Amino acid sequence: MGLFDKKYCDICGEKIGLLGNRKLENGNLCKNCAKKLSPWFSDRRSSTVEEIKQQLAYREENQQKVAAFHTTRTLGTNTKVLLGQKSRGSQPRCSGLCRRDRLQS
Ligand SMILES: [Zn+2]
Repeated sequence: MGLFDKKYCDICGEKIGLLGNRKLENGNLCKNCAKKLSPWFSDRRSSTVEEIKQQLAYREENQQKVAAFHTTRTLGTNTKVLLGQKSRGSQPRCSGLCRRDRLQS
């Protein structure tokens, strides 16, 4: 109860230590998951669990794309068009920060 309630991360399900909780609009986030978020991400407190999940999924997908891009590039295939189509189809509904992410990579 009260102060000593154990919190669990709504993203990965890990137990959150007393000082490790990062509050979200409608849930909790552990330190590890917070680290995975975009360094430009500043409105975490007003973000929902759903938005955080989307951002993490997006970032993960992006990393895979970058990896795939480098691999294919060494083979001499033009993946640029493919990448463009893909990201347009799976555009997450998050505010502003995803767009910045995309520009960056
Ligand atoms: Zn977590």
